[in-house]
Amino acid sequence: MNFKERRRRNGPVFKSRQKAHEEVLANEFWFGDGVPVIGKQFTAEKAKERKDKVVDVLYRTARRERRAGDAGVADRLEILADKIVSCHQGRRCDSLPCPGCHRALQKAKVAAQEIIIKRLKVARNSKLLVMANVIPLWIADTPEEFADLDVRNLNRRLKAAQERFLRELLPPEMWGAEP
Ligand SMILES: [Zn+2]
Repeated sequence: MNFKERRRRNGPVFKSRQKAHEEVLANEFWFGDGVPVIGKQFTAEKAKERKDKVVDVLYRTARRERRAGDAGVADRLEILADKIVSCHQGRRCDSLPCPGCHRALQKAKVAAQEIIIKRLKVARNSKLLVMANVIPLWIADTPEEFADLDVRNLNRRLKAAQERFLRELLPPEMWGAEP
């Protein structure tokens, strides 16, 4: 299998760690529906739908701020919305709230993880691969408590905490929450 065939099968191959972020955004492969597939909610079409919604919310919020709020905030929201609107092939915006760029970077991360996991499987086949999340001590549980964890309940609590945080931070229509 030659380079082109591997690329067709596996997607782009990183030649260097330098400027990987820029390379991802400059390569339209990551904005399409090629491998890796990261879920039905994260297709190119869904990213476009989300982009339209995010832009709409930003402009509406900017109008509201301009009418009865902070004109400086309105300016910044419009600048961000303009930036996301003008994100397209050959001129990606590289904004964190841009669903297209965010998805492209996420796909590249998944692809890189798949490659590194395959390599580690060969290079360290006698070792176990451990995936770890960093959790603040104040919300950590001891290993003995893991069996008793109610993940569904914890997720509900996490969502409620995020919701409270967003309600305090942002205007309600920005997140589709009830006022
Ligand atoms: Zn973008």
